[in-house]
Amino acid sequence: MPIPASIQHQDNKSVIIVGGGWSGLACAITLANQGIKVHLLESARQLGGRACRIQFKNFLSGQNIDNGQHIMLGAYHSTLSLFKLLGIDEADIIERQPLDLNLFSPSHSSIRLKAPTLPAPFHLFFALMNIQGLPLNERISAIKMSLKLAVNHFSLKQDLSVSELLKKHQQSPIVIQTLWEPLCLATMNTPSQYASAQVFLNTLKDSFSRNRKDSDLLFFKNNLSAIFSDPALEFISQHKGQVNCAAKVIELNIRSSENHLLSSENPIYDFMITTADTSYQSHTVVLATPPHISEQLLHSKNNLSILEKKSFLKPENASLNFNYEPIYTVYMQYPPSVKLPSKMVGFFDTIGQWAIDRSLCRQDGLIAMVISGSGKHTQIPHNQLADLIHKELKVCIPDIPECLDFRIITEHRATFSCSVNIEQQRPQNSTIIPGLYLAGDYTNTRYPATLEGAIKSGINAAKQIINRNAS
Ligand SMILES: Cc1cc2nc3c(=O)[nH]c(=O)nc-3n(C[C@H](O)[C@H](O)[C@H](O)COP(=O)(O)OP(=O)(O)OC[C@H]3O[C@@H](n4cnc5c(N)ncnc54)[C@H](O)[C@@H]3O)c2cc1C
Repeated sequence: MPIPASIQHQDNKSVIIVGGGWSGLACAITLANQGIKVHLLESARQLGGRACRIQFKNFLSGQNIDNGQHIMLGAYHSTLSLFKLLGIDEADIIERQPLDLNLFSPSHSSIRLKAPTLPAPFHLFFALMNIQGLPLNERISAIKMSLKLAVNHFSLKQDLSVSELLKKHQQSPIVIQTLWEPLCLATMNTPSQYASAQVFLNTLKDSFSRNRKDSDLLFFKNNLSAIFSDPALEFISQHKGQVNCAAKVIELNIRSSENHLLSSENPIYDFMITTADTSYQSHTVVLATPPHISEQLLHSKNNLSILEKKSFLKPENASLNFNYEPIYTVYMQYPPSVKLPSKMVGFFDTIGQWAIDRSLCRQDGLIAMVISGSGKHTQIPHNQLADLIHKELKVCIPDIPECLDFRIITEHRATFSCSVNIEQQRPQNSTIIPGLYLAGDYTNTRYPATLEGAIKSGINAAKQIINRNAS
């Protein structure tokens, strides 16, 4: 696309980061902390990407809610360390709860999985042994499977679906329905029929095999922007970085520098990044955009001549063409006295999957019901869906009064589909073009699409830039 003459040109000495989700912000913070100048361009009017606050004027008197209800696990060490770097005290923003899950169903007695205060992984085995609501033989089969997986370091010779893994380990339909399927959906947002067993095991390994606190559930006490993007913006600005919101990048032009011919072994590139009104030149760019956007920016006609039809990605068989899974967050507003039996409760044999009590964020009476993955709920009109969720909540709050109001937030591309062999598709942070990096939850972090995966990826991209500058 030719650049219009009205566009200002800036020769930029900064690392340019395109995309201000948690990954782009993590990258900017890590670089800025090392004294490297950063310039972040974000297309939306606010930072945070998929994990940000939103507001409806006529819902909850205009209070902020989240784009989607999020929780974290104790195993999210990179995210917790980054909060520390921003000067945030964990206790101020997070309510930590040792693993204790209550799952309700209209058709089955409730299930409770509670980890005792034992060192890992014994806390897991005792938690499984003592599951309330499951017969002893079912509990033993779940322990046997966990033991076998632990002995093999939670590693598979070949990836298969979570369903196939469970079948191989002779898990019965009831233990799948009440335990493994809810865990699979909660951690990977992908149904067990095609979810990658290896990525599921990576999550189990990190959460259950090292430190007991890694399996803690971490609940935010404020909206997601107040938790991360506001302090991140402050940190980047204090470290002389620049952040522009409402700055959608429309073109990335990869150019080999003039002295390229002098050193054809190690060609040098620079990058022209163009928004609606400005074009920036830089030697280092991080695309922290969702993969389909990165694909569009990389594979413009101009850049294809640089590539000569090879791939930009490492490894060469990686791809930016992911399938996606939706997440629905149904916010149900009740009188302030209404409370869930615990901060988070699960459901099975229902449409709703996990309900979180937003009294955590001083929003008494507000319940966020999360529905992960695709399913029949996507075909149901919103008012009927809210009615169904209300009925399902009655299973754990029998005397729940009428709902005062509701809002449903649908994210159709909430996460990449974490399907079998996905690890072979995920690209590294570095590309074959020196100075050009990728960041985002979809890169090869071993994690499913999570805040931790996004943060890890942003930090890794930054570390590679720091190492390159040092060499
Ligand atoms: C509803 C929902 C619930 C979730 N629940 C959880 C949870 O409980 N726990 C958990 O760990 N994870 C959860 N996740 C996943 C988590 O939110 C994501 O993994 C994480 O936010 C991804 O961050 P990212 O920076 O990689 O990508 P993104 O957040 O997608 O950031 C990409 C950024 O690039 C910007 N951008 C796009 N195009 C351009 C352009 N052309 N120019 C400039 N900027 C551009 C976008 O606006 C965006 O800000 C959930 C996600 C959703 C949607």
